Amino acid sequence: MKEKLHFNSATIHGGQNPDKAYGAVMPPIYQTSTYAQSTPGGHKGFEYSRTHNPTRQALERSLASIEEGAYGFAFGSGLAAMDAVLKLLKPGDEIISTDDLYGGSYRLFKKIFEDFGLKFHFVPMHNTEYIGSKINKKTKLIWVETPTNPMMNIIDIKSIVNLVKGKDILVAVDNTFASSYIQQPLILGADIVMHSATKYLAGHSDVVLGALILNDPSLAEKIGFIQNASGAICGPMDSFLTLRGIKTLHVRMQRHCENTATIAHFLNSHPKIEKVYWPGFESHPNHKVAKAQMKDYGGMLSFITKGANYEAAISIVERLKLFTLAESLGGVESLAGHPASMTHASIPKKVREKSGVVDALIRLSVGIEDVRDLISDLEKAIG
Ligand SMILES: *Cc1c(COP(=O)(O)O)cnc(C)c1O
Repeated sequence: MKEKLHFNSATIHGGQNPDKAYGAVMPPIYQTSTYAQSTPGGHKGFEYSRTHNPTRQALERSLASIEEGAYGFAFGSGLAAMDAVLKLLKPGDEIISTDDLYGGSYRLFKKIFEDFGLKFHFVPMHNTEYIGSKINKKTKLIWVETPTNPMMNIIDIKSIVNLVKGKDILVAVDNTFASSYIQQPLILGADIVMHSATKYLAGHSDVVLGALILNDPSLAEKIGFIQNASGAICGPMDSFLTLRGIKTLHVRMQRHCENTATIAHFLNSHPKIEKVYWPGFESHPNHKVAKAQMKDYGGMLSFITKGANYEAAISIVERLKLFTLAESLGGVESLAGHPASMTHASIPKKVREKSGVVDALIRLSVGIEDVRDLISDLEKAIG
């Protein structure tokens, strides 16, 4: 049994050993669907790659290690990972989630699983009191996402865990925005951690992949069964790329956080900026919770310019040169987005404005470039 590693070593070594065949330091891309057997059932632990694949297994062990969980599972996308969690439930079961959930998660809940008899409640979860009023005997899952997109609300994971203590209710946390470097929900008492590894874990905008990490053996058996039975796995190449990404997660995240803090303060003191949404400000309504449950404040922020309307916000994101106008987040390169016309365009204007997604809102995924170049780009675009 190896000594427990600190996070910055776990990203590189967690669950990893040189490959058994030739001692390759990086696990090879085992691009194979099947494995030779000496006699029926006589195999070396691998029969068919939907069930197990050595490259995916290396990634799954790394995922478990960086979240300090016992079991990791990798899927073809973040939403495929969520889909596996929802398949733990039965018609009539109820789920409570946050009202500013990632749009794709909301769509999966409402447009797919509602038709299978699951019932969803959406509440402003950064206020834990609202959750209690929706809990009843049918409640089986609380789905948390923190920080939220794009308003950067912070949800108190520990207080939700305490709220359901002793009840037959799972707490799952979408840890995509923070990444395991900043926030480790299993340590705070959550049952399941989910990642869109597409974002910070893989970190280079070159792969779509999802992950689940958990501790309970009977829950792991169920998720493992669903992963194999429903089959939404990721391939060996994508597993390899994500594993390589994780090895630099801690250094990338440090720079993401540093650059974002610098830009948050720059924007906050800029005469043309109305408001900056970033959990690192003491004035952020849940700054104390962020400080307690996060190691740092992450690489995401949103802002609105004074007096800006739809067109003005769009012309700012169009003027940005180093920040690429694109969906997604968490890569080494900086991205800018206009939620009202991009990620949140499908939500009716009145509904999105209620949660703060106004026409003038701009979201940044701050990359790891030299922050002076990023600020100069923003200065020119804001004018
Ligand atoms: C991108 C994202 C997802 C969906 O993950 P995919 O890998 O795109 O399927 C879920 N939650 C959050 C917070 C995300 O940003």
